[in-house]
Amino acid sequence: MLTHKDGAVIDTHTFLLALGIGNIGFAILMAGYIHGAAPSAGLRLWIWARLGMGLTQLLCWSRPHLGLPLLDGLEGVGWILAVTLEVAAYCVFFGFTRWGRVLLPIAGLSLAIMVAAGSMGATRAQLSALVAGVVAIFAGAMAWILLRPRHDSGAGWRAPSLLQRIIGVNDGLFALAVALWAATSLAGGRSAHAMQAFAYLTGYLLMIVNGFGFLLLCKQKDDAEMVRLATTDSLTGLPNRHAFLERAEHARLAAQRLRQPLALMMIDIDHFKQLNDRWGHASGDEALGVFARTAREVMRGHETIGRLGGEEFAMILPGAAIDAAVQAAQRLRLAVRSATVITSGPAYTMTVSIGVVVLDPNEDLSTALARADHALYAAKRDGRDRVEVGEPQLRRA
Ligand code: GH3
Ligand code: MG
Ligand code: MG
Repeated sequence: MLTHKDGAVIDTHTFLLALGIGNIGFAILMAGYIHGAAPSAGLRLWIWARLGMGLTQLLCWSRPHLGLPLLDGLEGVGWILAVTLEVAAYCVFFGFTRWGRVLLPIAGLSLAIMVAAGSMGATRAQLSALVAGVVAIFAGAMAWILLRPRHDSGAGWRAPSLLQRIIGVNDGLFALAVALWAATSLAGGRSAHAMQAFAYLTGYLLMIVNGFGFLLLCKQKDDAEMVRLATTDSLTGLPNRHAFLERAEHARLAAQRLRQPLALMMIDIDHFKQLNDRWGHASGDEALGVFARTAREVMRGHETIGRLGGEEFAMILPGAAIDAAVQAAQRLRLAVRSATVITSGPAYTMTVSIGVVVLDPNEDLSTALARADHALYAAKRDGRDRVEVGEPQLRRA
């Protein structure tokens, strides 16, 4: 019991019962949540970890009531297994697929040391300190996993997100609290007892925060994946029509605010139906991918291209007046011309026709798109593999 001069502040024993029931309830709730879905392996491990923790806490709570000698050892095993599962959940979440190679030997070694210490007559306090030491190391490992920068192919080194940092710091504090608990449980005396109770409560409270933290991390990852699926064209990896139009509208408003020009291109692959008919639909798909890669290579950082549908694409060029936009369109046209599409038969090349406009200051996006489409139609009519500039917007008298 954690005490104060006026009496009991909190009954840690009952607190343990509440935590045990809470963790088991949490695990059951999560099992219901993932039922029938395809949850990540990390979430499954996390549910088992919570269940293991809850059962171990109930065991701790019931020990004084039952008084069985074996329960001490079982409690230690429970803690080590539950924390191993929790670290494993983090490892799987962050893509360390070979977590078993590192974690299982460490967990096995810890259990072996605990059994050996028990059989050599170690006291309950010494065994508890040993288990707490292992838990502190595992919690420290979780903090390290969360706080270290990650290497992302394509994006380079990325700092951990704010949520990861919060949970990482929480894990670090938890490791310190448990280490403090381990150290004070070996030292006797009144102040050590109060310190131990403090570390005990802090540790358990941080553990609750950590439990929610993992769920939020999973939700954040799922949300990001949903947004990616909703805004990306799966064949080319480019923004889809909806996402492109949204970005184009943002760019239009920004250009209006900054009084800068904004150019818009409509791009259509020439005789694409013939390519499909001649080389097959799969090769047509490959050609769309080649076009997307080529366009990405010639684009500047602030420009955006999207797939409007079929073999039709559009691009916005913030800050580009008509001359710069036509130059960019010619660059793209020539790059596409010299990109080869590899098929099972001979490789082939394709061409594109492009319509270019610069938005008038108060023109809306659909009017500008219609003008660019009109210019594209003119490029097709005049022989394809060419760039045409759109007519100026018709103004009311
Ligand atoms: P034009 O030079 O006038 O643009 O002629 P085109 O043949 O390119 O244009 P048309 O609109 O007649 O044909 C477009 C073709 O694009 C028809 C359709 O089967 C094909 N297509 C649309 N989406 C896809 C796709 O995702 N994959 C493949 N392989 N083909 C597609
Ligand atoms: Mg076409
Ligand atoms: Mg078309």
